Amino acid sequence: MFLKIVLLIALVYILYRAFGGKIELPKAKSKESKEIDQNTLVECCKCSVYITRKEATKRGDKFYCEDCA
Ligand SMILES: [Zn+2]
Repeated sequence: MFLKIVLLIALVYILYRAFGGKIELPKAKSKESKEIDQNTLVECCKCSVYITRKEATKRGDKFYCEDCA
């Protein structure tokens, strides 16, 4: 019984590695990291003002503040 559990964990781990670790694990954790990301300060690439990620407008890889968007 114990061996089956170990094999199952190993199989899950191998599958996880096979997908390059892109499988979303706990939902609570991803939600938390999303909130942190939304409150991260980013620099407006036009006027260099700092705004939070949720207030910024993203175009490509660059962020713009409300005034420059
Ligand atoms: Zn700006």
